[in-house]
Amino acid sequence: MLDYVIRNARVPGAANGGAVDIGFAKGKIAAIEPRLVADSPSYDAQGCLCCGGLVETHIHLDKSRIIDRCTPEPSRDNPNHMKRVAAVKSGFSVEDIYNRAKITLENCIKQGTTRIRTHAEIDLPVGTKCIEALKMLQQEYAWAVDLEICAFAQEGLANVPEADKALVEAIEMGATSIGGAPNYDTDHPAHINRVFELAREYDIHVDLHIDSGHDPASMDNMLVAELTEQYKYGGRVAMGHMTKVAALPPDKQKDIARRLADATRWVNERADRIADKSHVRHLTVGYFGASTGGAAALVAAAELGARVGAVVSRGGRPDLAGEALGQVKSPTLLIVGGLDKTVIELNKSAYARLHCEKELKVVPNASHLFEEPGTLEEVARLAAEWFRRHLEHEDEEGG
Ligand SMILES: [Zn+2]
Repeated sequence: MLDYVIRNARVPGAANGGAVDIGFAKGKIAAIEPRLVADSPSYDAQGCLCCGGLVETHIHLDKSRIIDRCTPEPSRDNPNHMKRVAAVKSGFSVEDIYNRAKITLENCIKQGTTRIRTHAEIDLPVGTKCIEALKMLQQEYAWAVDLEICAFAQEGLANVPEADKALVEAIEMGATSIGGAPNYDTDHPAHINRVFELAREYDIHVDLHIDSGHDPASMDNMLVAELTEQYKYGGRVAMGHMTKVAALPPDKQKDIARRLADATRWVNERADRIADKSHVRHLTVGYFGASTGGAAALVAAAELGARVGAVVSRGGRPDLAGEALGQVKSPTLLIVGGLDKTVIELNKSAYARLHCEKELKVVPNASHLFEEPGTLEEVARLAAEWFRRHLEHEDEEGG
């Protein structure tokens, strides 16, 4: 007995791509068939796509909608966004945070987002006001979205006793993950160690803003990986930003490639263990690497073979992958800027050594970092098309 039916909807992975009816019983999907016979109330989706909700893994609802309060960036080359935001935080009240975050949250829901992890800053003078405001929204919109709150110190933790105290308070108020931004701390290892200590003490997840910037001289991701192993926290730690990986010195690439391969194995093994694989069977891992990070992606892909569905290298140095190039089985797209003459030549030599399905695309009028108008959009379009072509799998019966 069905309680409700969505008729005439398209679903991902459908055998013939045609429309189906989706029947619900007791709040769960009970049947998906081309034509369900039922008298229950229904909604005509008119051929629209019906899929799982979107997942937003990294957003700062507490800081959203403050652009009109911040002074403009003085120059493109020397951004100090963190300081400019810190300067307006004294104006944050629980009501103000609630009102701004509410608009952004509602927009996320309207776009189809059903799971969100939002970071929430606990630095002085705001303290735990963000947690308070976000907790209200978490309850108010529980019918539409799972909102997870990640408490973190954006402006330093190691030498800021108030931040440490507020962080503990935030967790006790209900934050279920802990973040960190060691880049803005005087003592990176102390910051990261404290985050792990608190995570273990309260049995919550870790989500760090890490290695942002372009100077690879000091990188923290290896310490995070070591602590993840030491604390047996595999699968519970996320690292965001990591742009320094794109400037990785060649001697560090093997370390990153090994960690990348380990993380990919973990994802694949987890997917394999899920008994009903219907919702993950269409998914395959793809790598996107920029600059020297592209070489690390290719070394990891060579190690994992068919378990990496596709690789895209943007303005990369695939030549640095050396011997691994000949072992890569994953379809690989090399994208290079037309003005990046030296890198074009290096990509051509790497391309010749790849024996997998491959393409080399040169984006006209683009320099190494694709800063010219429209060029990064072209990279996004080429990468998306490559991933769509190689990562999507139809059902066997659909061909
Ligand atoms: Zn962030």
